[in-house]
Amino acid sequence: MAAKVDMDKVVSLCKRRGFIFPSSEIYGGLASCWDYGPMGVELKRNVRDAWWRTIVHERDDVVGLDTSIMMHPGVWAASGHIDSFTDPLVECKSCHLRWRADQIENQRCPKCGGELTEPRMFNLMFKTFMGPVEEGASTIYLRPETAQGIFVNFENVITTSRKKLPLGIAQIGKSFRNEITPGNFIFRTREFEHMELEYFVKPGTDEKWLDYWVKERFDWYTELGIKKENLRLREHGKDELAHYARACFDIEYLFPMGWSELEGIANRGDFDLVQHAKASGRELVYYDAEASERYVPYVIEPSAGVDRSVLAFLIDAYDEEEVEGEKRTVVHLHTSLAPIKVAVLPLSRNEKLTPLAKDVHKQLCSSFVTDYDDSQSIGRRYRRQDEIGTPFCVTVDFESLEDKQVTIRDRDSLAQIRVPVAELNKALEAKLKGETFDASPLWATREK
Ligand code: ATP
Repeated sequence: MAAKVDMDKVVSLCKRRGFIFPSSEIYGGLASCWDYGPMGVELKRNVRDAWWRTIVHERDDVVGLDTSIMMHPGVWAASGHIDSFTDPLVECKSCHLRWRADQIENQRCPKCGGELTEPRMFNLMFKTFMGPVEEGASTIYLRPETAQGIFVNFENVITTSRKKLPLGIAQIGKSFRNEITPGNFIFRTREFEHMELEYFVKPGTDEKWLDYWVKERFDWYTELGIKKENLRLREHGKDELAHYARACFDIEYLFPMGWSELEGIANRGDFDLVQHAKASGRELVYYDAEASERYVPYVIEPSAGVDRSVLAFLIDAYDEEEVEGEKRTVVHLHTSLAPIKVAVLPLSRNEKLTPLAKDVHKQLCSSFVTDYDDSQSIGRRYRRQDEIGTPFCVTVDFESLEDKQVTIRDRDSLAQIRVPVAELNKALEAKLKGETFDASPLWATREK
């Protein structure tokens, strides 16, 4: 089963409208690296902000953290990444392309059908050198996940935050994996951004908290507009669990290439704290003063990708429809994710309209991310805003000069309503919070 939208359409929209460009494009690009353009950077930021708001700001049991990408190499030995963060790699004996052995269907090269070598384990961590001397002692790794920065700061956070367990520590940041087969646009890249929560709980309550976080995380996507029928949960079988995990669920999304992982929620038990305690010689335990108990917490980890979420949100929101005999491409992004919230569009570039239109823009832009566009026909400008997912367009016309009212056009229903300029901010604020378009007493109906 595949999604309704094909990937090429989304890639092309992303290029055309300034969401995502191939990296280093003028040099021919760099495989699986992408740059976020003016629209993409806003969308990506909104995804991060939505996650941070839900996970950190709206709760009193989670705090944030921002740790460095480069860490002591001992971290990766203790966490098991040096030994176990590997994928089985096979190479085609004819065209020499390399593939992940577990993704090959009939044991022949997917490109040329050639014979493949025996699998060998390939470590996915990027190595680099710290300092001026390229020798063994200075070898370090770019982090392949942000989680370890959280575990090694467990003690710091517990002693400074004055919080009790259960306590979550959240982090958003870049991770790097030398993936053997990156691809599908921004689905799998070698540099990407993680949004990770390590939620520390008392052993014995871990299963309950795993269920809790699976539900929370699933609902987060649907509340931000992803259609329920395009999401599903999949529990990992015992044979596919990562070396640190006691149990794991994937939230899968119906991407154009089929159902694929969007986020993983794992019960990591006490694996990481025990490993780091052993390797560092520090006692990484929690002291529960009320119960006079000391224990090593278990950890529930919801781990999501910013880029992969951006892709899922874009695909899910993408739509093509016919309006009055013309094709309209529209991106129904949730208002909190849309890069631009409001576009101010004077009916035409006319010296009488411009001053009022500019005033309206000025009035809005300190409260909302607002675009101003007066080039080309109004129809074309609406199309552009539809394609970048702008929920509301505000049109200033000649009547506005007389009655000091402007028209708000709704991206999804295409309904248009007349509103006094003085009420515009209040009205848009309510609409952006999700009030239905026609329900507000603020709306004045346009006189025929
Ligand atoms: P996969 O099985 O797809 O390789 P994973 O199970 O190794 O992913 P995790 O380590 O659980 O992934 O990372 C959590 C999330 O981080 C994933 O669900 C995904 O959203 C994101 N992610 C992981 N690897 C990549 C990547 N190479 N490119 C983009 N996003 C990624």
